[in-house]
Amino acid sequence: MKKTMMQIIDGKKISQDLKNELKADVAHFQANTGKVPGLTVIIVGQDPASQVYVRNKAKSCLEIGMHSTVIEMPHDTPQETLLNTIRELNQDPAVHGILVQQPLPKQIDEFAVTLAIDPSKDVDGFHPENLGRLVMGHLDKCFVSCTPYGILELLDRYNIETKGKHCVVVGRSNIVGKPMANLMMQKLDATNCTVTVCHSATRDIPSFTKQADILIAAIGKARFITADMIKPGAVVIDVGINRIEDQSTKSGYRLVGDVDYDGVAALASAITPVPGGVGPMTIAMLLKNTLQSFRRINNL
Ligand code: NDP
Repeated sequence: MKKTMMQIIDGKKISQDLKNELKADVAHFQANTGKVPGLTVIIVGQDPASQVYVRNKAKSCLEIGMHSTVIEMPHDTPQETLLNTIRELNQDPAVHGILVQQPLPKQIDEFAVTLAIDPSKDVDGFHPENLGRLVMGHLDKCFVSCTPYGILELLDRYNIETKGKHCVVVGRSNIVGKPMANLMMQKLDATNCTVTVCHSATRDIPSFTKQADILIAAIGKARFITADMIKPGAVVIDVGINRIEDQSTKSGYRLVGDVDYDGVAALASAITPVPGGVGPMTIAMLLKNTLQSFRRINNL
């Protein structure tokens, strides 16, 4: 039997294409209204990984002509101080997107923070109102959380057939697994799958993953998904970002996904690499959500 070519899903390229499109849209709206979309990111404390993420978000905003503000707060900031800052941003007409970088220090309740953000500016899509609208299928009236949204964009731009397929999502976090599984089961052109969700209490995970036409791994365990867990020809989406030791690199570590790439790529029909797959899409979708918020607020 002739084996069809395996496709590497290039999130780096697609995210750049998307950023170019968004840049043109921002310029267009600026020319017509004199206004630009604005994203404010709040970071509490000095977690090095969070600082890198926040810097990248701000840089990406500027690249496409959006306004970006970063508010840095000390590690011991009381919850009420953070909530007051969010309330002020909710009222600020120049701010279209508000994002509070996680994780937060332990004196701050993450859910209280999520609830404080005005759902119409919640470009992370974490607020229950946005998640609820997503579950009800009102994608045009909510913000979809950026990582699952980026995966939909990749499936769409690579013309991957989803209707009637069996999608298995491994992981059920509120920011990836749950919204992802809910999206894939919606009655939409880009989804419409039969969905199975696996998690840490699932018995015999391979018996499910082997049935997947589309497998989405969002676990946080390096190379958890191995070739013997895959149906030949499956589309494999790897959300995981895990550091493993590697003395051959300058830093002494490198990033790998939740999928054992080499073994799985030999069987898959399409696969996202790590890095360069889902990761770059997350920031691009944050920009897309911020532009969407700007358009809704200004009736554009
Ligand atoms: P969480 O830790 O919040 O969730 C992990 C999920 O995996 C949980 O539902 C957990 O199950 C499940 N799980 C853990 N161990 C097992 C196991 N042995 N067998 C089956 N299921 C298991 O992680 P996130 O969803 O936030 O992130 C997942 C991964 O994706 C991480 O590597 C993270 O760094 C990465 N990530 C990447 C992003 C990107 O932009 N590319 C964005 C966000 C995350 P249970 O619920 O039972 O505990």
